[in-house]
Amino acid sequence: MSIADQPRAGGEPLLRVQTLSKAFGGVRAVAGVSFDLAPGELLALIGPNGAGKSTCFNMINGQLKPDSGSIALDGRDIAGLPPRAIWRRGVGRTFQVAATFGSMTVAENVQVALLSHAGQLSRLWPRAHAMHRERALELLGQVGLRERADDPCSTLAYGDIKTVELAVALANRPRLLLMDEPTAGMAPRERNALMSLTRQLVKELGIAVLFTEHSMDVVFAHADRIMVLARGQLIAQGPPADIRDDAKVAEVYFGSGRLVKAAARVAT
Ligand code: ADP
Ligand code: MG
Repeated sequence: MSIADQPRAGGEPLLRVQTLSKAFGGVRAVAGVSFDLAPGELLALIGPNGAGKSTCFNMINGQLKPDSGSIALDGRDIAGLPPRAIWRRGVGRTFQVAATFGSMTVAENVQVALLSHAGQLSRLWPRAHAMHRERALELLGQVGLRERADDPCSTLAYGDIKTVELAVALANRPRLLLMDEPTAGMAPRERNALMSLTRQLVKELGIAVLFTEHSMDVVFAHADRIMVLARGQLIAQGPPADIRDDAKVAEVYFGSGRLVKAAARVAT
């Protein structure tokens, strides 16, 4: 691990979540979750279905108001702010590009994100084609899709579409990137490719990443740190090697065997 791979030592974390809670009726979806996230760090949030992962994400991106707790970005509380306000402070997330903008070219998809970032979407739409083209091409170059810029998104393979989603998320120059199941529906090889690309880019750009992922192979291969959520509570957090050895975690995943197998591949 190089110096650049390591989370910023000392100093404040970029994101500090404290005793975050949210209930739906009688269901305590998220109950007292606390964690820190540093620039350049990839933090995986794992846990069985219904553990509260998406609820956590949606409180951080503003789609859901927490019942209690705080979410500090650079020391300022963003809990309960509207999504747009949180996005403007540099919290990005991956969107599903495929369904909405399939008829536009790859470059146009990224240009729309750039326009939106600049707050020009409604005023300047007719001139969208010319605007931000250069920056869009630069972003596509970063994710390795420069050559597909002028192809309609609908002609891309699924893995490439998910990669365009990453370029779109980067258009906002996020400091924190939230990725809720970014590799859903992808084949194992594509998953690994997308997460290595994400890892490489966020290390270069110093972006903090919180992601969920079903494939334990991918989680153990690419996360700097792993948090395990069960019934709304964090039961463990630490580097992959520690999570592998955690008895409570093994219990949560007992029976599936997935975690145990993936963890066995992590070098000690
Ligand atoms: P995960 O993403 O880990 O699968 P979720 O955050 O989606 O888990 O869900 C956590 C719990 O909260 C589940 O029991 C789920 O049924 C419940 N839940 C999530 N969203 C809502 C909602 N909008 N209304 C009611 N219950 C919800
Ligand atoms: Mg979810």
